Amino acid sequence: MATLGGQARIMIGPRSVTFAPIHDLGLIVVDEEHDASYKNEEGIRYHARDLAVALAGFSKCPIVLGSATPSSESFANSRRGRYRLLRLSRRVNDRALAQVEIVDLRREAADARKVSEGQIATASKSTNGAAANGSARGEEASRDAVPLSSALIAALRANLASGGQSIVFLNRRGFHNFLQCRICGNVIACPNCSVSMTFHMRDRSIRCHYCGNHAAAPDACPECHGFGLKGQGFGTERLAETLAQMMPEARIERMDSDTSGLKGARTRMLAELRAREIDILVGTQMITKGFDFPGVTLAAVVLADMALNMPDFRSAERTFQLLTQVAGRAGRGERPGRVIIQTYAPNHYSIRAAKDQDYARFIRRELQLRRDLMYPPFARIAMVRIEGVDPQRVRRVAEAVAKTLGKTATPEGIRVLGPAPAPIERIKQRYRWQVMIKSRELKPMREALAGMRAEVEAIAERDDVYLAIDIDPVRML
Ligand SMILES: [Zn+2]
Ligand SMILES: [Zn+2]
Repeated sequence: MATLGGQARIMIGPRSVTFAPIHDLGLIVVDEEHDASYKNEEGIRYHARDLAVALAGFSKCPIVLGSATPSSESFANSRRGRYRLLRLSRRVNDRALAQVEIVDLRREAADARKVSEGQIATASKSTNGAAANGSARGEEASRDAVPLSSALIAALRANLASGGQSIVFLNRRGFHNFLQCRICGNVIACPNCSVSMTFHMRDRSIRCHYCGNHAAAPDACPECHGFGLKGQGFGTERLAETLAQMMPEARIERMDSDTSGLKGARTRMLAELRAREIDILVGTQMITKGFDFPGVTLAAVVLADMALNMPDFRSAERTFQLLTQVAGRAGRGERPGRVIIQTYAPNHYSIRAAKDQDYARFIRRELQLRRDLMYPPFARIAMVRIEGVDPQRVRRVAEAVAKTLGKTATPEGIRVLGPAPAPIERIKQRYRWQVMIKSRELKPMREALAGMRAEVEAIAERDDVYLAIDIDPVRML
């Protein structure tokens, strides 16, 4: 870092970032320091928290990183004595921790099958068997669509009856997750990206959540031209509608990037929530951050596995943070809070630790795994992303990158993983491959990457393939 006329500047690769000119900086506070959105992924790649730590060192002023669920990096830094760990052993106003319950969706699904088989068996003996049979099947189908356990529904009803407010979290927007043809099996995918298009009921559109491409939902299957298209999966839109059908007396609103984009909608909804004009708020990540509404006494997570099953070494950490965040939304007032987490993986350590709200136990296990698998904070990783329009050329460059990096590999020093297609292989008509490199130390990794660039850059440029190196990547997709 350097100063220019009293302004702090920091070099990131060939470019530099200038900090706002604040003289006599006395204290820096980074709240929710674990939040992944501090990492800038576009243009100059940097982590705002890490820059703040650098700025504090440079300005010789103290810095406080605050979080109920510190990132594994920051926690490891406190164990290494680089940071001082200060624990808050009491909650604000000595409020009790919310009571967290786990619902095992595997058991719920088995019970639902038993119930519906039983109903069908009895129904077939009665005279109006067909109708009863149909409704039992209908109930089962809707359970399959949105996993709402009887425990969760009972809790929502009880909370509504006692005048409490609820928030229900689901990390996927839209109505159906995708449209599939029952005749030929075709799934409607984005023409630019290797992901399925999400069906939105409000305007009967299909939308790509990666590139924004959208169109009217087709009536016939574009592949076989048959009328077999059927919605599969679920998002917040369908969740809100299903809850509205089950509880017509409840005032239900939905907050996600589809609804909050409408002018003033977010502000209006927050005001209504505060005024207790909303009984149940359904939403994505947006409803987990910084909410402090004393009337909210029940918080629910519809499917905790969604974050857990991401192909990312941080998925357990993110799941723990997310569940803890959601749990923290309930019981901020006089009445104690209740939290319900639905999952198909009730025994996963991140979910069990979130249930007990035991950060220490979670982080011990997590750090052990990271050490064994040579992941941060015990190693540095870099992701070389290789992108281009021509799939063959992208693949060829990716292979060259891996081969060149492979020459520097040693079992204990540097490890090279890949080349492999990125988990989302194509975004905005560009094919994406990746090579990951892990290293105990930063310096040899930087040298290996610089050597690779010198060797491969010219081939990549000739082939119109773009190489990007992300050191300490936050997202692996
Ligand atoms: Zn078809
Ligand atoms: Zn797309």
